[in-house]
Amino acid sequence: MARRRVVVVGSGFAGYNAAKELADQVSPDHVEIVLVNPTDYFLYLPLLPEVAAGIVEPRAVAIPVPGKLRNVRLILGDVRHVDTDAHELTYVDPENTKRALTYDKLVLSVGSVNKLLPIPGLAEHGHGFRGIPEALYLRDHMTRQIELAAATDDQQERDARCTFVVVGAGYTGTEVAAQGHLFTTMLARQRPELSDQPIRWLLLDTAPRVLPGLDERMSKEADAVLRRRGVEVMTETSISEATKEGVVLQDGTDLPTRTLLWCVGVRPDPLVESTGMETVHGRLVVDEQLQVPGFADIFACGDAAAVPNPRDPGELCPMTAQHAVRQGKVAGRNVAASLGYGTPRRYRYRDLGFVVDLGGKDAAANPLHIPMSGLLAKVVTRGYHLVAMPGNRARVALDWVADALFSRQRVQLGLVRSGVVPLDTAAPEYPKLLSDDEDPLGVERR
Ligand SMILES: Cc1cc2nc3c(=O)[nH]c(=O)nc-3n(C[C@H](O)[C@H](O)[C@H](O)COP(=O)(O)OP(=O)(O)OC[C@H]3O[C@@H](n4cnc5c(N)ncnc54)[C@H](O)[C@@H]3O)c2cc1C
Repeated sequence: MARRRVVVVGSGFAGYNAAKELADQVSPDHVEIVLVNPTDYFLYLPLLPEVAAGIVEPRAVAIPVPGKLRNVRLILGDVRHVDTDAHELTYVDPENTKRALTYDKLVLSVGSVNKLLPIPGLAEHGHGFRGIPEALYLRDHMTRQIELAAATDDQQERDARCTFVVVGAGYTGTEVAAQGHLFTTMLARQRPELSDQPIRWLLLDTAPRVLPGLDERMSKEADAVLRRRGVEVMTETSISEATKEGVVLQDGTDLPTRTLLWCVGVRPDPLVESTGMETVHGRLVVDEQLQVPGFADIFACGDAAAVPNPRDPGELCPMTAQHAVRQGKVAGRNVAASLGYGTPRRYRYRDLGFVVDLGGKDAAANPLHIPMSGLLAKVVTRGYHLVAMPGNRARVALDWVADALFSRQRVQLGLVRSGVVPLDTAAPEYPKLLSDDEDPLGVERR
């Protein structure tokens, strides 16, 4: 029997689990599993705000794929094209060489990217928050703003540098604002020049409440914690313009700032649309076995897939890590079944609640839909993350202990400059593909 090749694109929550489940089900003698991802790690995104705040080190949230996934071959690459007729995909490797890879079965689990809106200046002056580069950039940027504010005698400039604007009060924006406010306040306390200087954080959302997609009790808790600390929560509003010097709010107010964080939801990775297969809201249409209708060899899962929500007929599963993990496992199992190992399953999952870390001793959580707040929620939140991470648990736990015992490191390393983390991008890890004329090596086939 010829060895079959399954290619999984993307090693996020969905792809990592799909590859793992598949490897558990099939014989490596008969099935080769190839995972294509721009980096050699699975990124545990929910702890990224803690990386930006200097609590957790970046390598702790990056779980290495080699060594973790048995019988899975990792290929570093950014997939740019899928030819469904030829069963071949084209990707760009870290040295910008265009290569091709054939597949017998394909799992698309490429996740999502920042969602941009047509607001003047946003793409140039806003920053997203989706990866380690953005988190490192933000940590340095916040530190730099506080240092530059302390160094200037110009009060207007100082006010602008000490004003931080976050647009989007979903879990990402809310956690970034909560952690960022505590971090910058701590930095400012070390600078006598800023002893009377207010540190302003504004959290904006067009929805009537923070955490609009989550349980109302969690919203109230997060709202109360943020306001108690002095974060200016502004609902039912957004910005109408962004410039180098600040933003304009929708009511026309000019707000001088050097920091605009854009956390307004996500959209599926554009690779999905480029395949030409049917999409809904940019997500690849799949059936309840996560198979693409009309393409017996293609499966999709996670944020990139329009998975019917078994609990809410007619609706799609939300784009959350919990769903992506479970969908990945089902996709892996069903690919195995399509190769003669076991039987396929339908995707069925009831979410188990949500956790939102608000920094300090605060969190909002509803495990098994039981509402919790304060220290108890914090313990549950951290415990949940440790259980949910597929590796590096001890590293993360040690970082938490270190943060409780020592004062936080407050230097900037300057490794990630603003231009490296543009907002108007699907965040390609590698430079844009050269045109065929420019690419001296052409396509290398495997
Ligand atoms: C800051 C932040 C915090 C979050 N916190 C939570 C939370 O607390 N709880 C929760 O449930 N959800 C949370 N989410 C959402 C959750 O992380 C996503 O729903 C989840 O990551 C989706 O999993 P996925 O596998 O579909 O995509 P991802 O985890 O994003 O993985 C996609 C992978 O595909 C790779 N990829 C993309 N394009 C290509 C390509 N062309 N070629 C090859 N590889 C490619 C990417 O590099 C990545 O490794 C958070 C998201 C963010 C950004």
